[in-house]
Amino acid sequence: MYILRGVKTVDGGPVDLTIEGETIASLAPAPPAVAAGPIPAGAVVIPGDGLLVLPAFVDIHIHLDKAFVRDELPDTDGTLEGAIRAMRDRKARYTSDDVAARASRLIRSSVTAGATRIRTHVDIDAAARLVALEGTRRAAAECADLCDVQIVAFPQEGVVRDPQARRLMERAVELGVDAVGGMPHWEADPAAQREHVRFCFDLAAAADLDVDMHVDETDDAGVRTLEMVVDEAIARGWEGRVTVGHVCSLAGADEAYAARVIRKCWEASVNVIANPATNLILQGRGDRGLIRRGLTRVAEFRAAGVNLCFGQDNVSDGFCPFGRGDMLEIAFLAAHAAHLTSRRDLDYALRGVTEAPARVWGLRDYGVRPGVRADLMCFRAASWEEALRLQNPPELVFFKGRPVARSAVTTVVGTAPVLAGLRGDGGEERRGSEGGAADDGWTDAPSRRST
Ligand SMILES: [Zn+2]
Repeated sequence: MYILRGVKTVDGGPVDLTIEGETIASLAPAPPAVAAGPIPAGAVVIPGDGLLVLPAFVDIHIHLDKAFVRDELPDTDGTLEGAIRAMRDRKARYTSDDVAARASRLIRSSVTAGATRIRTHVDIDAAARLVALEGTRRAAAECADLCDVQIVAFPQEGVVRDPQARRLMERAVELGVDAVGGMPHWEADPAAQREHVRFCFDLAAAADLDVDMHVDETDDAGVRTLEMVVDEAIARGWEGRVTVGHVCSLAGADEAYAARVIRKCWEASVNVIANPATNLILQGRGDRGLIRRGLTRVAEFRAAGVNLCFGQDNVSDGFCPFGRGDMLEIAFLAAHAAHLTSRRDLDYALRGVTEAPARVWGLRDYGVRPGVRADLMCFRAASWEEALRLQNPPELVFFKGRPVARSAVTTVVGTAPVLAGLRGDGGEERRGSEGGAADDGWTDAPSRRST
């Protein structure tokens, strides 16, 4: 049993939050210290003064198999096409060990940053074959005590352009994945795009899987595979089971098309994932002067009531040099890119990395309330807005009721004491922040810091 004593939540506080087994057992107003009752035998009490408890992040769009190959690639022109080209040769040299090690490193980094559920797209194509899938499955198994991982089979090179992709995708589904991916706009023309969409839905329907596609990740406003995907979802009765990522071209499309297709997304309960980090980088490369931000129509999807999330997407690969699986950082970038600044807007940004992706995942026991699984994170901040502003990692992360990551940021400002830790004389301690199983017997208070 863990008792988080006197923590804040987004609804107020202070409260005592009790975890029993994997579950939040209770949330009760924190009594004054003198009135606090005896501590139950075996309970670990964590002093929560100054801590804000939030549900752990859900990163609903990442690429674990591609991560951390950046230094091995030739420099690219910064476009999606350039990135896919640059990655192709490296993918052909994937080994299961190599993918598993890199994927595991990113899972641990994500957990440290507060994500305990991660949905990854895994390349299934002639270059990656099934090696990326095998390595990612191994990493997910190795990290099963830290994080839940869902895998989407992703034909990065197309299913019409890449003649091997269909057989490999079918085999990937046989081996076991959580959703069928796709990338129809990558095909040569609308007929091939339609064929791509139909193939992916056939595969998903045969295996009773959800669909989660990369859609219209281009500045070309004439590319409109979003409507193909949504029409297919409606025609097959796959409402509520389809997710589309990126949807960049919609930003440049005419208002009539945008309004029509956004309305259809709402009718078909299609989820939309914007990936601000990667698309701020990849999109708008041909623009001069007014350079597009690369994001889809966040405001219009929001106004229409469509479930919209923010994802990490790429980490240190051919597509993006940055990233660490940090959804606090992604929410921060989303707030900048999508003009989310009012308090309601910032609540929306939080929803985009918590409740909205939890809905895509199909979670019913998610949040900070009694009876749900205790996947939680604690920021040393007065509010979500302050956590977003400071960009410090959560001090504690819980997965299934157990602490799995602990971070501390120590800042010393002044004169003589600043160098104390460097002298190794027992002065200020600087702690690392790698994710990992924490000691269940932990009872000391997290380090304080000044900002
Ligand atoms: Zn992606």
